[in-house]
Parts: sequence; structure tokens; C-alpha cells
Amino acid sequence: MSKPSVSITKADILVIDDTPENLHLLSTMLTERGYKVRSVTKGLTGLRGAQAAPPDLILLDINMPQMNGYEVCQKLKDDDRTREIPVIFISALGDVLDKVRAFTVGGVDYIAKPFQVEEVLARIENHLTTRRLQKQLQTQNLQLQQEIRERQQAEEKFTKAFRASPNPIAITTLFEGRFVEVNPSFLRMSGYTREEIIGCLAAELNLGFTQDSYHQAIQRLQETEALQNHEFEFRTQSNETRIVLLSTELIDLCGDRCVLNIFNDITERKRLENEFISLVSHELRTPMNSMIGALDLLATGQLGALTEQGQQVLNIAITNTERLVRLVNDILDLERMKSGKITMQKVKCNAADLLTQATEAMQGMANQAQVQLITEPVAADLWADPDRILQTLTNLLSNAIKFSEPGSAVWLAAKMENGKQEIGDREQGLGAAPPSLRIHVRDQGRGIPTDKLHTIFERFQQVDASDSRKKGGTGLGLAICRNIVEQHNGRIWAESILGQGSTFNVILPLYRN
Ligand code: ADP
Repeated sequence: MSKPSVSITKADILVIDDTPENLHLLSTMLTERGYKVRSVTKGLTGLRGAQAAPPDLILLDINMPQMNGYEVCQKLKDDDRTREIPVIFISALGDVLDKVRAFTVGGVDYIAKPFQVEEVLARIENHLTTRRLQKQLQTQNLQLQQEIRERQQAEEKFTKAFRASPNPIAITTLFEGRFVEVNPSFLRMSGYTREEIIGCLAAELNLGFTQDSYHQAIQRLQETEALQNHEFEFRTQSNETRIVLLSTELIDLCGDRCVLNIFNDITERKRLENEFISLVSHELRTPMNSMIGALDLLATGQLGALTEQGQQVLNIAITNTERLVRLVNDILDLERMKSGKITMQKVKCNAADLLTQATEAMQGMANQAQVQLITEPVAADLWADPDRILQTLTNLLSNAIKFSEPGSAVWLAAKMENGKQEIGDREQGLGAAPPSLRIHVRDQGRGIPTDKLHTIFERFQQVDASDSRKKGGTGLGLAICRNIVEQHNGRIWAESILGQGSTFNVILPLYRN
């Protein structure tokens, strides 16, 4: 006979039988097999014992004085503490076994005398295993119910937060950008009704971003899993423009890959900020001009010769004032561009000339920084404002030189681009992009962290807070570049590998007869 398994040997069995010989026989047989056996001769004592310390299984004699086996079993089944314990009836030799009653009162099995040891053991093991599996199932069930409760609670919390959030929130499908769910704040900001939005593509609603820019954002989102505070203009149903910061995260909604879009409407904040900045800048202009005049007088020696130390202090004052002038000019420039006070004076212009002019303008700075400037122009006609494109290229070159080590190189190159092929499959269905020129400024400098590649095009955004102080910048250059490029219906973006260098790409439409 195979030995009972370890777990079975530990099972606790209660034997209730008023015949001492039977009791002895069963106890010995079970103890020998490693079971823990308690034996009692009276039904009532057995019942109490089972209630006080429930065993794993009960072997119960039927014919007993005072309380017979059926009654004991009935009472066991009536009590929560003992209801689940499997009961096997034992009928003594000559007893009339009422099988139907045995099962009716809750017995799981019966053994009629004379019994075979192997058979009794096999039945006991069988019922212990069934009971154990039952217990396991009950525990798993309880765990599952607990998990379901927790999920429901989490879902409820999310739903409440989603509905009550003052931030507009929208859930869209990942690949198409179709609206799946929006909260009341989103409806308020957009001006649309829920019915008008659910099931629609963002591009269909004319919310201010094209299918192409949506795909770019999704591509970035997939690379980084989450996007934080991406600023863009959101168009409402009444064609009003709101400035929003968008943070997105990938989520799984019933097995579908979706995007959780959380908006922060900063229109009012931006308006106040712009007003403040432009007011301060205008106010700064006059005193700064008079400071420049005064410093000029000192520098030309018209007020007498300066000591060497005086000259040094004057140089510091001049450098800082020039930086201030640049800052104020950049702020006002950007403000005028954004408000449409400056429009692009587009003419047919030669790309090769522009690239050469930009290189010539930056050659002095490159020499000083001991950086080699390499230009690879291409003959192409652009429909552009040459001064503004030059401003963009010199800005990008100046950054590339500033963030390069002496002895390294900076490339300014251009190549013709067929929009459809380059931008790829993402453009399909929207019609081919017009043929364009891709200009890039590449350096071998310190590089830009991935999470900053987008934000550096915002006003005053720098990779390192000390960049503008150390490198003499204003933190506005790239914001101006982006504005200029966008006003040419072009695109500008940065790619970079930390420690290896950066590439700034500009796509501009070609001149078309
Ligand atoms: P700044 O006047 O500070 O150069 P920009 O708007 O032109 O302002 O650039 C913003 C920031 O982007 C810079 O301060 C710098 O942190 C980062 N940056 C721009 N170009 C490069 C580059 N070629 N290499 C590394 N970092 C760059």
C-alpha cells in the first residue's frame, strides 16, 4: 500500500463510536497511518469536541445510545463551526444502515461492516482531498471577491476623479486618436456636447492639431510612455483658441491601448504673463538705451581715460547690458510674431545663398570657439522670408557652436525631400505633403536629454537652468525659430544622443510656380 502523503498524515480525525472494540480498531489503524486521532464513545461528547476544535473529518457510528449518529450529524450540519466537516458513517455488523437518511442528514459516505482497512483508508483520503480542494477553492473565491471589490473601488475612485476633475480629461484610442470618453471639464473647455465628440477623431473636430502632429505626439508617447506638459493651441467649437498644457499617458482600457489626455488650460495665465513681460520689456527699453549710451561714452574715452580695472568693470557692464538688450528684443520680437504684428515677407529665395550667408555670419563665433563649420548647401528655391530664415539658421548655428567643445565640427546641410516618402506611412490618407527642403544643423556637443527635446522650443526653457547665464543666451532663440518655421508652414524638431551631439531639423516648403 502506498503511504499517505505528508499533508494527509497530519489530518485530524474524530472517531465517535460507542463500541470500544470498534473504536480501538479504527484508532489504531489510523494512528499507524500517521493520522491524528481523537476518539469518543458518546455522540454528545463527540459533538462538543468537534465544536471546540473542528477536526478535518469525522467517522461516526450510527447506533449509539442517547444520541444516535444521524442526530449527531444533523447537529454538526446545523452549526456553522462544524458544517463543512466531512462525516463518514460507520454501520456496525448487523445494523440496518439507512443510506438515504445518512446522505439526507449531510453524510458524505458510509462504510458498512465488515470493512477492509484499505477501503476505509482510501475513502478517508478521498474525502480529505475533496475537502482540502474545497477549502482551496473557497479561499481563492474569497481572494477573487476581494480583488473584484478592490477593483470596483479603484474604478469608482477613478470615475469620480475623472468626472469631478477641474482639468479637462479625454481618453482616446492610441492609433487613430478616436475619442472614447471625456469628462465634463473637457466638454466645458471644448464647447462640444458629449454626443458630438465620442467616436470622432481629434482631426475631424478641428481641435487645432493635424493628424500628422497627432501621430508625431503618439510616436513620442510610445517612446517615452508618458508626455508631460506639452504646450499647444486648442481650438474650441466656437473657434476660440485656448493655450493648453497636455500631459498624456498610455493606458489599457478593456484590452485596448488608449491614451489618457489631461489638459491644463493656461490661456489666462499666459495672457497675464505675456502682458507682464511685454510691459516690463517696453519699460526696460528706454533706460537700457540710455545705459548703452552712457557706457558707450565711457568706452570711447570721451569722459577721460579709465584705469585697467575700470576698463574690466566697464567690459562686464557692456556684456551684460548687451545681453539684456538681446533679451528684451527677443521678447518683443516673439510677442509681435505671436500677435501677428510681424508677418513673414515671403519671396522666392535661393536656399544655397541662405545657407552660405548663415555660415558667413557665424564664422567669427565658430573661429573663436575653435569649432569647424561645414556647409553642404543645395540648389533649391524656397518660398520664404529670407531675413527670418537667416535668423533661424544663425540661431541654430549659434546654439550648436555654443554647446560644442573646441576641436569639434558643426554641419549645416540641406537636402530635397519628398514629403510623402520621408514623413512616411503616417501621412497616407491625408494626401502627399508638398515637396520640401530639409535643412539640418548637426553638432557633436553635449546633446539634449530625450525629455527636453520638445520643451526647449518653449519660451525660457533650457536643459540646464544656468545655460543662459553661462552661454549668454536668452532662452528664447528656439521659441522664435519655431514661430518663424511654423509661419512658413514648416516643421522644426530636435534629435539628440546625450554626450554625442544634436541635430536640429527644419522642413520648409519649396517655391512652386
Ligand atoms: P538659449 O538662448 O538659452 O540658447 P534657445 O531657445 O536657443 O535659448 O535654446 C534653449 C536651450 O536648449 C538652451 O539653453 C540649451 O539648454 C538647449 N540647446 C539648444 N541647442 C542646443 C544644442 N545644439 N546642444 C545642446 N543643447 C542645446
